Amino acid sequence: MSAVNETLIRDVVADVLARLGGAPAAARSAPAPAAKADCGCGGKSAAGGPALRGKFGVFSDAGEACGAAQESFLQLQKAGVAARVKIVEIVKAMAEANAEVWGKIELEETKIGRLDHKIEKLKIIKLVPGVEWLRPDARSGDHGITLEEYTPFGVVGAVTPSTHSIPTLSGNIVNICAAGNAVVFNPHPSAAKCAAVAVRAYNEAIFRETGIENIATIIEKPSMESFAAMCKHEAVRILLVTGGPGVVKAAMQTGKRAICAGPGNPPVYVDDTACMKRAAKAIIQGASYDNNLLCISEKEVFALESIADKLMGQMEQNGAVKLTNAQLDALTKAAFTITPGQGGGCGHASVNKDFIGKDPIVLAKAAGINIPSGTQLLFAETGADHPFVLEEQMMPFVPITRVKNLAEGVKRSLEAEHGYKHTSIIHSHDLEALTEMGRALDTTLFIKNGPCMAGLGLGGEGYLSFSIATPTGEGVSNPRTFTRVRRCVMVDNLKIY
Ligand code: NAD
Repeated sequence: MSAVNETLIRDVVADVLARLGGAPAAARSAPAPAAKADCGCGGKSAAGGPALRGKFGVFSDAGEACGAAQESFLQLQKAGVAARVKIVEIVKAMAEANAEVWGKIELEETKIGRLDHKIEKLKIIKLVPGVEWLRPDARSGDHGITLEEYTPFGVVGAVTPSTHSIPTLSGNIVNICAAGNAVVFNPHPSAAKCAAVAVRAYNEAIFRETGIENIATIIEKPSMESFAAMCKHEAVRILLVTGGPGVVKAAMQTGKRAICAGPGNPPVYVDDTACMKRAAKAIIQGASYDNNLLCISEKEVFALESIADKLMGQMEQNGAVKLTNAQLDALTKAAFTITPGQGGGCGHASVNKDFIGKDPIVLAKAAGINIPSGTQLLFAETGADHPFVLEEQMMPFVPITRVKNLAEGVKRSLEAEHGYKHTSIIHSHDLEALTEMGRALDTTLFIKNGPCMAGLGLGGEGYLSFSIATPTGEGVSNPRTFTRVRRCVMVDNLKIY
């Protein structure tokens, strides 16, 4: 494990320095002290002014939330790696233990998505990488030794989406604090109450174990003003935003470095070499997950015309319900507002928020169809310029468009993906098709022959994060995303060759 390697290297350095008359060897690898200062209340107390105490991370004022996070960052620096490990353990264990309660309060507040998947998204926080991810690089040669290590920035200013508020926040705390930082959240206003419940609970537990009270703070009533205040605050060194195009643009205009987990509209291409049953099941699984709220979820399917009927047949056999043209028209009218004359031939379509993340039964009602209970997904055949293809619609519905060949499939996929470079998916066993689509789409996640979640380590190899930095290029975020690289060089003396 990397921390062990780091400890060994430090021990060797400490030994040698001691022999050379430097720091005493006894000082090496001491267990990380938690922040101390007894307040007489029986627990360990946080340092900092009275205004910052007793809040357990929840602040009405953005400046106080940032200031408290900065103090906690300094405490964490002193407490060391052991405290980071403890924080990660606490967040992972509490996300799992509270998954049902927190999943429920998030659904009650946001009214989007599905309870079973809200619960699951919290239970899998344990798959987010922690401190073990930070492996220092060491070099040794004729000129001595060099250690390159991943060191924290300080305070990260984070913005979270309404689509997965507590899961994003929890995963972000794991990544950011594993790297030794503190974090302040400006959550989505429609998912802020549940986020504050989780932040308070995490801080209470972290305080009990480490004496650090505000390692993750939150602005209780977030607004555009609190976002601006957070971004401007001198303690906030970098930003992490997870959301749509508006917040990505706003973060990039702040003048601070922004890690942006932006929007997507993932296309799926299916050809005649794919296993239709497997492709159909994967599309249903991915597109129906949390009622299609995931940014990586299958949003539109381009099927080679020779297999399109087979694919749709398999989707029906596996429980998805096909809409007729008339039902599709009715659903489209309800789910979008079309402004004629704008945005090309069909006018400009904007998604009706009342349908985002709603259950299939709600969509079916708008389409004028009765569906069996337990239906996961609706679908219909559409043209390539249909709003359901081009807009990031986040509903348990997928449009299926026939294409003549791979070239058309790739072209249509590129149009629908809008250059977000987020996620694309292919079902094919033709290596050339896999290669061509992968190169052309050039997305951060490219998933072959599986559902979208395989791209986040759920049924595919890899690790989990709910913040996938797409326009800024950091990819699936992990602790290293929130570090600076620092080089520590010893000239000549410690060469071992
Ligand atoms: P949203 O863009 O409405 O809100 C996201 C966050 O940004 C919220 O906290 C919101 O208050 C804030 N915000 C929005 N506009 C802002 C502005 N101009 N200035 C400052 N703050 C602003 O998104 P949402 O509906 O909550 O989430 C869905 C969107 O997020 C989708 O586009 C989805 O693809 C994307 N998303 C991306 C990822 C990823 O990892 N790339 C993960 C989850 C969601």
